[in-house]
Amino acid sequence: MKCRKCGRQAVFNMRRHKLALCAEHYLEWFPEQVERAINKYKMFTHDDKVLVAVSGGKDSLTLWDVLLGLGYRAEGLYIGLGVDGGLGYSDLSLEKIEGFMATRPGAALHKVDIPESYGESVPEVAARTQRGRGKPCAVCGLIKRYVMNRAASEGNFDALATGHNLDDEAAVLFGNTLHWQVGYLARQAPVLEEQGDLARKVKPLCRLYEREAAAYALIKGIDYIYDECPHAVGSTTNRYKELLNELELDSPGAKLQFYLSFLKAKEQGLFQQAMEQVTLHPCENCGQPTTAPGLCTFCRLW
Ligand code: AMP
Ligand code: ZN
Ligand code: ZN
Repeated sequence: MKCRKCGRQAVFNMRRHKLALCAEHYLEWFPEQVERAINKYKMFTHDDKVLVAVSGGKDSLTLWDVLLGLGYRAEGLYIGLGVDGGLGYSDLSLEKIEGFMATRPGAALHKVDIPESYGESVPEVAARTQRGRGKPCAVCGLIKRYVMNRAASEGNFDALATGHNLDDEAAVLFGNTLHWQVGYLARQAPVLEEQGDLARKVKPLCRLYEREAAAYALIKGIDYIYDECPHAVGSTTNRYKELLNELELDSPGAKLQFYLSFLKAKEQGLFQQAMEQVTLHPCENCGQPTTAPGLCTFCRLW
């Protein structure tokens, strides 16, 4: 296979685009795609201050690298969840992020350590509470969202960016559709506009396949944590990813089509009713905006 741009030996082939590229041209192509999504969905501009949530995995480190490379004002946020799982998962994640930063002087990282700040690790809170028993990922998601919102508003960031890729988005969409969770479908988007104190949330990799982000990290020499969180192994979302991968194998582009058609339908007004603003008010304890009466779900958890 030859690179479409220069004819040299290609290192990566994307069946969905019928596009093969050499290393040099792939490292050009990928950031161009990210920038296109940023502009298309009006995620942020070069004047904005962006907080990138970095987990130490390939997607978020790739995203941070690309945003820095494109000259955006992107600072990192790492949330220490206190997950060990027999491999020192959280410690190893932070090591990867620190390794990444060692070669990027000037990159700033904000750190929030859950056990240190709140006295319990995420698996411990999950085990203690009704909400988390048997499903630590639900509690973990809630905690991460809360900490991200809080860090973004306290640091006056214009946008909060996560590394969600197309495979993530398609799998979540599949689950939401399977259960017709209209409220979730209404809120699943590349951009969630700011609401009061809640910063705008953006997913610049939402149109890029997981393997494309992995290829970028590999070619760029970004060292990331290969293992996924031990609690997420065997999750329903992963099962949906497998199903969609089977589909993609038979018809390249199926995942992208599924996701983009959904966005188009939404643009045309599907789910409009469910999108009508939910009313938010400040939590009685922490002041963060919440839909729940009284205390927010985060404060209730602790
Ligand atoms: P996940 O929910 O683990 O699939 O991760 C989705 C995105 O959330 C990642 O791409 C990151 O942007 C962000 N994220 C996940 N875990 C963390 C963490 N511990 N600290 C900061 N950001 C995270
Ligand atoms: Zn080339
Ligand atoms: Zn609260």
